[in-house]
Amino acid sequence: MTENFIRNFVIIAHIDHGKSTLADRLLEKTGTVEARSMKPQYLDQLELERERGITIKMAPVRMRYRSLANQDYILNLIDTPGHSDFGYEVSRALTAVEGAVLLVDATQGIQAQTLANFEAAQRAGLMIIGAVNKIDLVQGEALQAIVDETADFLGVESSEILKLSGKTGEGVDQLLERIVAKVPSPTASRKFEPSGFARGLVFDSLYDSHKGVLAFVRVFEGSFSAEHRLQLVATATDFKPKEVGYFLPKVTSSNILTQGEIGYLATGIKDPDRIKIGDTITTAVNAERPNVALPGYKEPKPVVFVALYPEDANQYDDLKYALQKLRLTDASLAFEPDSSEVLGRGFKGGFLGRLHFEIIAERLEREFAISTIYSFPSVAYRVRLGKKMDGDEEWLTITNPKDFPAEVAEVEEPVAKIEILAPLKFVSPILSLRDTFRFTDIATIPKGGKTLITARLPLADLIQDLDDTLKSISEGFASLNYELTGWQRADVQKLEIYVASNYVPGLTRILPKKDIEREARAMAEKLKDLLPKQQFVQAIQAMVGARVVARETIAAMKKDVTGYLYGGDRTRKMKLWKKQQEGKKRLKEIGSKSRITISATMFRELLKK
Ligand code: GDP
Ligand code: MG
Repeated sequence: MTENFIRNFVIIAHIDHGKSTLADRLLEKTGTVEARSMKPQYLDQLELERERGITIKMAPVRMRYRSLANQDYILNLIDTPGHSDFGYEVSRALTAVEGAVLLVDATQGIQAQTLANFEAAQRAGLMIIGAVNKIDLVQGEALQAIVDETADFLGVESSEILKLSGKTGEGVDQLLERIVAKVPSPTASRKFEPSGFARGLVFDSLYDSHKGVLAFVRVFEGSFSAEHRLQLVATATDFKPKEVGYFLPKVTSSNILTQGEIGYLATGIKDPDRIKIGDTITTAVNAERPNVALPGYKEPKPVVFVALYPEDANQYDDLKYALQKLRLTDASLAFEPDSSEVLGRGFKGGFLGRLHFEIIAERLEREFAISTIYSFPSVAYRVRLGKKMDGDEEWLTITNPKDFPAEVAEVEEPVAKIEILAPLKFVSPILSLRDTFRFTDIATIPKGGKTLITARLPLADLIQDLDDTLKSISEGFASLNYELTGWQRADVQKLEIYVASNYVPGLTRILPKKDIEREARAMAEKLKDLLPKQQFVQAIQAMVGARVVARETIAAMKKDVTGYLYGGDRTRKMKLWKKQQEGKKRLKEIGSKSRITISATMFRELLKK
């Protein structure tokens, strides 16, 4: 089949608007998956995806479709994760296709990620087909209002908006016809100037223990087969593929992947670091080549850091193994060994965002049965120590709060541009979040019956549950999208916790100056409630540098050692008292030198908000 009859598209929508369910109907209608093997959200393969109802990995699928006019087509669909943590992956998926079906949930209307995804699809030059989904739930005027809102938003006539139900399948036939009629074929939309070499864009990857990393590719020029020697441009890695093929949706080998198609190359490479999302695979193997790299490649960078320790210290090796395994399917996960005096050996993990971290923590528990204790999520800081001897400025990047230097000349932190879309009546409660979150440059713009609030917000604040806070103050109606934009000056300090003179590194945090005292007091009080009494007085101190910001004391345990003695043998009693006093002194010494027992469960409690 020629390129003319290929249609490559994505489904984009705010989370839960029904992308994966619609994909199920497309798989059925095209006979790609037989009805009897169908299960809901078929493309969500991970157990966690099914249970939490979110798409984590992008699943591409190739379908055959015979149109009403009796023409056969190849439809390549890429289902995408909706959350902003995965914005870069989504942007690569958009580059890999020519069209987008933009779904709007009839019960919700336009939401923040609808907006962000629409803008991204426009930037990628995609043909956008608007559709209102879940029409089994909303009818009549209420439905028409959402259709009008969507049309208005896309700048088209209301009559152009399709009405669908991914649940009942209503409208899905029209959608298929619309896709073949409207989405340009790869031939019709040449995205890149020819280079003379075969070129494909890597938009995702998957680890296979036999075939090495499978690179998911969109072929933009020429063709690939297992006969060619190829190169991954960004990591300058040469390889000869073991196999090429398609997603049907199971990986199925074929002889060749040709221009315009979407499929995979089994690279045979075992090191997942070599296959980066956004990289170019090319037949231009030997040097002296023109610039064959497809534009838009970015090194995936972790931005949220969390230290993870096995709850059971004996599970350190299991945790290491599990992280290595997870990394094979998720190259954006970074980790390195780390240790804590209280919790022993563990790892410092780097993540794309808070949701990304939560997903990994949950997968460790479910797929590997490892309970972990983790530190507060933190961000990277750029710290200037001062001028060096030669007058140069010296900047350090700190990703672990305990490494934050005591004396700094200047600090910068990552900042995000955020967009919150909410019904008007929630705007004022949302704006009052200014008291706890460091919003700046706030602006509000009316947007199709709702209000769009834009602002700058340090990433450190964004990961303090802004998402959940918004959901709860807006009864679920406000939606959030963010994009990291760079660095800005930060007015922060390091807060350290000492228990009975023992420094507890896992509790160190970098906090805005204005929040330090409040957080210090809260932490000291929590510790006081949680820590068991010892036979000596324990001081809890929250310190900024050498200054004590908050202090609590836990009284010593009183054990009545004389209780079992009856009668009035006073001298024996005195002897015992004395013995106990000596014992206490010794314990106190041990207490200040050795580890204070803060149990794993206590740590968990402490780190809860
Ligand atoms: P995604 O996050 O965009 O992939 O959304 P899902 O496909 O996972 O769907 C989110 C939720 O909406 C699930 O509970 C689906 O069962 C439900 N859903 C999806 N499409 C429809 C629909 O057309 N009608 C109804 N009633 N529910 C739907
Ligand atoms: Mg989904």
